[in-house]
Parts: sequence; structure tokens; C-alpha cells
Amino acid sequence: MHIGIPKETRDGETRVAATPETVKKYIGGKHSVVVERGAGTAARYLDEAYEAAGATLGSAQDALGAELVMKVRAPSAAELPQMKSGAVVIGMLDPFDAEGIQQMAAAGLTGFALEAAPRITRAQSLDVLSSQANLAGYKAVLLAAHHYGRLIPMMMTAAGTLKAARAVVLGTGVAGLQAIATAKRLGAVVEASDVRPAAREQVESLGAKFIDVPFETDEEREIAQGTGGYARPMPPAWMARQAALVSERCKQADIVITTALIPGRPAPTLVSAETVAAMKPGSVLVDLAVERGGNCPLSEKGLVVEKHGVTIIGLTNLPGLVATDASALYARNIQDFLKLIINADGALAIQRDDEIVTACLMCEGGNVARRN
Ligand code: NAD
Repeated sequence: MHIGIPKETRDGETRVAATPETVKKYIGGKHSVVVERGAGTAARYLDEAYEAAGATLGSAQDALGAELVMKVRAPSAAELPQMKSGAVVIGMLDPFDAEGIQQMAAAGLTGFALEAAPRITRAQSLDVLSSQANLAGYKAVLLAAHHYGRLIPMMMTAAGTLKAARAVVLGTGVAGLQAIATAKRLGAVVEASDVRPAAREQVESLGAKFIDVPFETDEEREIAQGTGGYARPMPPAWMARQAALVSERCKQADIVITTALIPGRPAPTLVSAETVAAMKPGSVLVDLAVERGGNCPLSEKGLVVEKHGVTIIGLTNLPGLVATDASALYARNIQDFLKLIINADGALAIQRDDEIVTACLMCEGGNVARRN
């Protein structure tokens, strides 16, 4: 197939959907690849490296006009008209953006949104949510450390002893677990909370303390199990008990990292404005859920702000701050997904009975794919 790798156009998007490593594999797999000039520059993958891997360089139109287009973000309104009806697009197409999916369908595209892949063992190597959230969790802690005016580890010096920082991580999915591991590696004392009971063992295995919010009814316990590994909205009574406990822990904390999400819904509020007001001056909160409304009402999307003496980091796209590795992992996710829609001869052969393929397929033949 003829594969196109356009430069991402969304503000601040530094990642690229293919690296010279994956391009080389595609060329070896009898595909031809056109890379838009400068597509990988922000991620430190230079045009010469793509050429050396066997790609040709071209314009945005050349890359977007390919039979199979690999993207990081969904095509914009300016990009869609440059794409061919019947072409395949693979990327993080935002499955919950019904309007965006409808526009891709109207453009005649066959769209695969990799965020929609089921969280099953076989899908792990193409799981873009995991590959990117893992980096976001890591970078969140480094950002917090950068903005925190003190040290993270306990340090004994001739001039006196410095206490270890206390970190609280709220939401312990992929990003949260990596945040715990990173904070521990830096020497912080870490506590963490999640609604899913399965999270306790994972938190404790990383050496952090689990903030236990007890269940008072069978209904609470049942909802907390979640669906397909994802959380569901908890009843208000449980949320209130969690808020009280979290508030106590945040008041003691130097660094708070929030990552709590519920698929297709606004992020739950976990750290109230009152809690922030009661936090220690100089402490830092990183809200990784800010793009979905935030876990803290005081966080501001795309900004680092100071409120009540607390630095609140609402930067989005943390994986984009480590674009070289984020692109490398993302590109390998796409390469792995391709095996499900391309045959050994390099031709399009969508495995329609595969549950990963059906979950990721968003639109085809002018229609939005029917969701179960
Ligand atoms: P996510 O980004 O959707 O949510 C982040 C975390 O927030 C989740 O752990 C969720 O339980 C938590 N959360 C939601 N509401 C909360 C609340 N009120 N208080 C505290 N925490 C709250 O999650 P994710 O990182 O995408 O991971 C989702 C699930 O998928 C996890 O169970 C993870 O272990 C699983 N997973 C499985 C695989 C696999 O087997 N292939 C791969 C990756 C992730």
C-alpha cells in the first residue's frame, strides 16, 4: 500500500505517527511510504533518517493523499479535504467525538481509532492509551519536581537533614501507576487512591500506601468493579467519603498527581477548591485529567497557575513533552495494529471478525460504524 505520514497540525502536537524504524519495516513489507517534510522534526526524527529508511519526502498533500494515512490526532477540517475517499486513516481519532467521526465518514474514510481497542492481553502491544499514559505519568512527576521549590528525597547533609516529599496519586490506572513508580524512584513517600479494588495490590506492590475508602453497600462495591477494567461513576455517598479522606491526605502532601478518568464522561472532581486552599504553600498539583474537565476545579487547561500558594499544572499532552520516545512507542502501536488489516502481500485485508478491529473501526464507506 501507499502509506502517508503527514506532519501533525494540532497546536503543540510534537509527536509523529511513524519513525524511521517503523518506516523501514513498512518498506520491507512491500509498501511505499511518503513522509511530509519536517513531519518528525519536533520529535527529533529528521527527514534524512526517513529517506535513509526508504521513504520519499513530500508535501502535506502528498502524505494526506495516500491510500493509508498514519496520524497521531484526528484529521482537522483543513486536512480532511486533502484525503482521498476510500483511504484508511489510523490514529487517536477520539471515539467519543461523534461529530469528528461523522466528518471522517462523510469524507469517505475508513477510520480506525486505536484508543478504542479493548484492554485485553492480545491488544497490549497496540494499546496507545497505555503507551502514552505511561509517559504522561512519568513526566507529571518530573514536572511537579521541577515546580516544587524543595527536594524530593530525604537528604542528610552537613548543614542538616531535609525531609522526603510526600506525594499523593489519585487514580492508579496506567498513568497513576507510573507516577507512583517515578515518585518512589525519586525518593518520595507515596500514597494513592483508586475506586477499583484491584488497584490496591498494584499500588502496594510499588511500595505506596493505599488510601482505603471503605464500601458501605453492595451497590458501591459492585459499581467499583468497573467495566472492562475501566471505572464507572461512583454513588455520591462514596464520592463524599473519598473527598473527605483525600482532602486530609492532600493537606499533608507536597505533590499531588491526579489522573482519574471515566470513559466518555467528564473527569470526576477529587480535589476541591477548599482542599487546595488548605494545602501547604509551595505544594504542587498536576492534573492529568484537565483535558476532560480536570480532577480539580482550579486547574486551567494548558496552563501552570498558582492558587492559594499551590502551583497547579494543567498542561495537556505530556507525552508530547517526551516526543521522541512517545512517537517511538506510538509508531510501534500502529505497526502492530496494521497486522490486523493488511495481509502478507501488503494489501488491505481487514480482519472483520477480530474484536480489536471491530472495536477500533469508527467509519467506513460513508457511514459511521455501528457500535455495540
Ligand atoms: P483511565 O485513564 O480510564 O482512568 C485512570 C484511573 O482513574 C483508573 O484506574 C480509574 O479506576 C481511576 N478512577 C476513576 N474514578 C476514580 C475516582 N473517583 N477515584 C479514584 N480513581 C478513580 O484508566 P487506564 O489507565 O486507561 O486503565 C484502565 C484499566 O485498564 C485499568 O484497569 C488497567 O489496569 C487496565 N489496563 C489493561 C491492559 C491490558 O490488560 N491490556 C492494558 C492497560 C490498562
